[in-house]
Amino acid sequence: MKEPGKTLIHGWGRFPRAGARMSEPADVDGLRALLKDESPGACIARGSGLSYGDSALAGSVISSLGLRHVCELDSADGVLRCSAGLNLREILREVVPEGWILPVLPGTALVSIGGAIAADIHGKNHHRHGSFCEHVRELSLMLADGEVVHCGPERNPELFQATCGGMGLTGIILEAELKLAPITSSKMAGRSLPAANLAECFELLEAHEQAHYSVAWLDCLMRGPHMGRGIIYLAEHEIEGELRYRGRRALGVPFATPGMLLNRRSLSMFNSTYYRWQNFRAGRNRLDLDAYFFPLDRIRNWNRLYGAAGFLQYQFVLPLDAAREGIASVLRKVSDAGKGSFLSVLKKMGPANGNLLSFPTGGYTLALDFRREASLFPMLEQLDAVVLDHGGRIYLAKDARMSETVFKAGYPDWERFLAIKQRVDPNMRFRSAQSDRIGLTGRGA
Ligand SMILES: Cc1cc2nc3c(=O)[nH]c(=O)nc-3n(C[C@H](O)[C@H](O)[C@H](O)COP(=O)(O)OP(=O)(O)OC[C@H]3O[C@@H](n4cnc5c(N)ncnc54)[C@H](O)[C@@H]3O)c2cc1C
Repeated sequence: MKEPGKTLIHGWGRFPRAGARMSEPADVDGLRALLKDESPGACIARGSGLSYGDSALAGSVISSLGLRHVCELDSADGVLRCSAGLNLREILREVVPEGWILPVLPGTALVSIGGAIAADIHGKNHHRHGSFCEHVRELSLMLADGEVVHCGPERNPELFQATCGGMGLTGIILEAELKLAPITSSKMAGRSLPAANLAECFELLEAHEQAHYSVAWLDCLMRGPHMGRGIIYLAEHEIEGELRYRGRRALGVPFATPGMLLNRRSLSMFNSTYYRWQNFRAGRNRLDLDAYFFPLDRIRNWNRLYGAAGFLQYQFVLPLDAAREGIASVLRKVSDAGKGSFLSVLKKMGPANGNLLSFPTGGYTLALDFRREASLFPMLEQLDAVVLDHGGRIYLAKDARMSETVFKAGYPDWERFLAIKQRVDPNMRFRSAQSDRIGLTGRGA
């Protein structure tokens, strides 16, 4: 129900939704005035709103998209200083023609720099190049009292480790200095390899772990000997070619479609056709940056395809030694429950960094999308048990329903995080629906 003065907002999964008082300061002074004024009370920063669940939801929400004035590239060294409200597409337009690229790219170019740091996002190259914040040299942060502090791996490192992956709970990120990666072409040399089952997917990802980028799409509806069949996508930057990036325009889904369009039957048909088609055209191909990194950005608002009830993405990571067994067990449970995931993506991850709430850890991560329906939640609780039994954790940027117990078991550094938060934000000014639910700022804190 919408309250007066509040706007109904949600994350990418369109669940949950909540009324929020929204403000969008136009600059750092405006932001300070807003925080000093106390009127937003408890609040949380929001970038592009592309986290799936409730991490950017609160009674008062401060959009950082107005913070977009700084974008300075040192094109000799590939060091970029930029405002937190700029998105990755805007950055790529500036840096690619100069022969540089953001070293970590997620599945959409519309993520803001603030959101990328707050979730310490990972890409298809985590096994080689780590997560986004491993390329952040320094950032500036506005604390709850309006003070601006700087932190980085060497300066104020504890605050840096709490802010990178800290889901906006230490303060509002204003600017960041990033080390970019050099490229000599904006074309990608891609390669796709079919895998007949889950074991083959793992084998191919291991065999190609030197690939710059790798990811597997799984057909999660297959059972028995074909369970986990999929396509492995590998890619390298081409050496020769032009340096160009425009950022593709997208077609839109104008309204939420009836969610039943994406049912087990239609998914099964889609998966079989897709697998056969990809199998048929398996081999080498040449792609531009958008086609390889952001294929989903071609359809604006594709989240509406799941219907008015929205959807949830369940992304977890398991350590290397437990991943094969744990992921097989998750796929069996999903199949036994008769649920289908439209997108099922498996990636290898490199080692964890020291950030206190960052998601990545050495092993494998699987992401599954499910239409929201009442029967989904008991199944997800079963999956939580498998993830914890295998020593894993669930990604906060995708989460909309994890319990406090599951969070605290998966993120053993939560107490160290809380100690730092209490130092910089003693009145718990920055809190989200998610942080309350998982006991960082709510009951259990
Ligand atoms: C299609 C799609 C594909 C994706 N693929 C990937 C992927 O491959 N890898 C991956 O890691 N993630 C992926 N994501 C998730 C996405 O990268 C993260 O959720 C990211 O945090 C979203 O950034 P945002 O600007 O939309 O932030 P929001 O969703 O608005 O906010 C996310 C969190 O960041 C905090 N935040 C935002 N701005 C600031 C700021 N200025 N200061 C402090 N805190 C701030 C918010 O408080 C919140 O806790 C994907 C999402 C989508 C929709």
